[in-house]
Amino acid sequence: MHTTVDALLPLSFLEAVRSVDSPDDDLDAELVPELRNKRLGLSDTVYAQIQRFTDAAKKHQRTEYEETVGIAKLLGRRPDAEAVFRAAGRYLAAQTYQSIPSASRGLIASLPSLLARPIALRQTQRIAGKYLNGSVRRHGSFLILEVPRSATVDVSPRGVGCAYYESFFRELLRLLGASGGSVDHVRCAARGEGTCEWRAEWRSIHRDETADNAGAA
Ligand SMILES: [Zn+2]
Repeated sequence: MHTTVDALLPLSFLEAVRSVDSPDDDLDAELVPELRNKRLGLSDTVYAQIQRFTDAAKKHQRTEYEETVGIAKLLGRRPDAEAVFRAAGRYLAAQTYQSIPSASRGLIASLPSLLARPIALRQTQRIAGKYLNGSVRRHGSFLILEVPRSATVDVSPRGVGCAYYESFFRELLRLLGASGGSVDHVRCAARGEGTCEWRAEWRSIHRDETADNAGAA
């Protein structure tokens, strides 16, 4: 099946590699020429790829699924793969959060939870569809993110790549003001369960119940 993904996905992998491999302090910075040879994230190849996918993301061009999986595999082979995938997930969340119109972001931040939640849910669903080829649905007091064709599920042993979507989901909910609960990987294609699903508690946005009641009164 011919599939494409949003250019933000490969971009998030590469940005995470660059960020994790960047020197932490001045002492490290002095060693950069030597580090360059050792650290993928500081290489000219990664830099050139970041430019390419940044341009593609700006133009809303999509990338081949297979190419994206190939980049994810480079991350999956690293001993720090899980940390890199988590960083990539946070990057993707931050970028896709910016795709929410500022008026909607303002409403989500300022309206009482009861009114803010449906707006936040619609935006979360839009983002999951557009950027992850996935979907988000409510299930009682939980939100379920489903990704039928994960770009990271087979790139590392023991499902380490799945941390990418988990980290994305947690961070997006945090940015929407609905964070705090755990995010559980309740279904996994790597375990032969068909698709990957993550379940997050759908908490109040910004206000506790008392504030909600006051807002409704
Ligand atoms: Zn999975």
